[in-house]
This record gives sequence, structure tokens and C-alpha cells, in this order.
Amino acid sequence: METKPYTIRRILQETPDVRSFILEFGDHPFSFTPGQFTVVHLNAECQAPLTISSSPHDQKYFQFTVKRTGNFGTQFYDQAQIGDTVSIGEPMGQLKLQTDTLDPVCFLGSDYCIPAARSFFYYILIRQPQRKMTLFHEVTSLDQVLYDNEFKHFEQNSPLTRVVLLNQPNRPAGWAGGLGRITPVMLRSLYLENPKTKFYAAGEFAEVKFYQQLLQAAEIPKQSTFVERWS
Ligand SMILES: Cc1cc2nc3c(=O)[nH]c(=O)nc-3n(C[C@H](O)[C@H](O)[C@H](O)COP(=O)(O)OP(=O)(O)OC[C@H]3O[C@@H](n4cnc5c(N)ncnc54)[C@H](O)[C@@H]3O)c2cc1C
Repeated sequence: METKPYTIRRILQETPDVRSFILEFGDHPFSFTPGQFTVVHLNAECQAPLTISSSPHDQKYFQFTVKRTGNFGTQFYDQAQIGDTVSIGEPMGQLKLQTDTLDPVCFLGSDYCIPAARSFFYYILIRQPQRKMTLFHEVTSLDQVLYDNEFKHFEQNSPLTRVVLLNQPNRPAGWAGGLGRITPVMLRSLYLENPKTKFYAAGEFAEVKFYQQLLQAAEIPKQSTFVERWS
């Protein structure tokens, strides 16, 4: 597969073990649909798919958000530095936001598996501000709430409704959000509000399996669900 070189221009510490890497399009601009990933080559031995977490409207830069996990994730997180050049293949993948409609969007994800939701959100904010987007974000600990400050900034006055659920049995001090996991009732009520709602989910095998069961239990039509397994 053909790859092109892109230079890392900024690194943001998002959570204690998740970083966003901002790369410059430079001489090789490409377009993508929110939700797509590209295969990223750190070196000859180390490559993996990463979802583009930025808006397709950004002309100069694009972004990946990487968890320090597994072989690739740990090496990329630890080694990739500002000024480094990484080779990247063409955008691909089927977890694509449908951009030719204003149907409401519901995104389900856990911890670091919501970069596509960020890309969806910025697309919708700029191009389709009348379109509704609900993000159900499950977190395994308080420090895993990804993109918290930027999403908080938009929550008052934007298409985004965010439901952050802490997947722990007891409420820790300072946590005012929900506890537990997403339920079929939550999804069913969104569907009943608007049966055109499209449901997207991405993540590691166990979470994706859980979300598929939820969507089934909520009786969401199969053609309204889009799921991407990362493992
Ligand atoms: C379509 C797609 C998009 C992806 N987008 C992103 C992204 O935006 N950001 C990102 O950080 N990663 C993303 N990943 C995961 C990434 O490609 C690597 O799989 C990850 O960095 C782990 O590296 P590895 O596969 O070399 O790990 P290995 O050591 O080979 O891991 C083995 C397997 O375990 C799985 N795994 C790793 N961590 C966990 C975990 N915490 N829980 C359960 N299973 C796990 C891996 O997915 C892999 O399949 C994506 C994967 C796919 C398929």
C-alpha cells in the first residue's frame, strides 16, 4: 500500500496514558470522511490502524489520538516526537459518518475509543449545526474522560449531548456524572425520539460485543447501526 510522509507538529497529553498527535498535511494533503482510519507506520516493524480524530475541514493539520497500550500503541506513544516523520496510508474504513443527511447520530465508546466521535462532532458543528449528536462515553476511571475540556466548552450551545458514565460500582468523591454502563433503555429512548437516528460504536472486542448486544436489546434496526472492532 502506498504511504506518504507527514511530520508531527504538536503532541497533547489528553489523559495520563492517551496523547493526541497533530501532523501537518504538508505536500500531501488528503481528504477523509469522519470516522475513517489510516494505517500508520512508526518504523518498518511497527504499524497499526489509527482513527483520524480531527475534522476533515482542517486544511493544515490532522490528528490521531493514541492510547499507550499493546505493542504499537506503547511504542508510538513513547517514541513519537515533535519533528518526527511518520508514513501514513490512505484513509479507509466503513465507520463513516453519513454526511448527506441530517439524521441524528448516537456514538458509543469506552475510554480512548472515541476519536471518531471527535471527528464527527467537528464536522457536524461546522457543516450541520442543526444535526443532533449524542455521545455515550463509558470510562473505567475518572482520569479517562477524553476531550473533556473541549467537549465541555461546546456542551451548552452545540449539537452535542454528552453522557459520560463511570463504569464503577461506587461514586468516587467529586464525580457528579452517571455510574454504570449504557443500557438498552437509553438507546431505545433516543430511537423512539427519532427512528432515523443512526448508531455508531467503535472499540476493542469486549466493548464492541457489549454494544452490539445493547443495540440488539434496544431493537435498533441493523441498517441503522455501524460498528468497528479494533481487536
Ligand atoms: C480500525 C482501527 C482503528 C483504531 N484506531 C485507534 C485509535 O484511534 N487510537 C488507538 O489508540 N488505537 C486504535 N486502534 C488500535 C491500534 O491499531 C492498536 O491495535 C493498538 O495501538 C495496540 O497495538 P498492537 O495492535 O500492536 O498491540 P498488540 O500488543 O499486538 O495487541 C494485541 C491485540 O490486543 C488489542 N488490545 C490492545 N489494547 C487493548 C485493550 N486496552 N483492551 C483490549 N484489547 C486491546 C489490540 O487491539 C490488538 O488486537 C485501532 C484499531 C483498529 C483496527
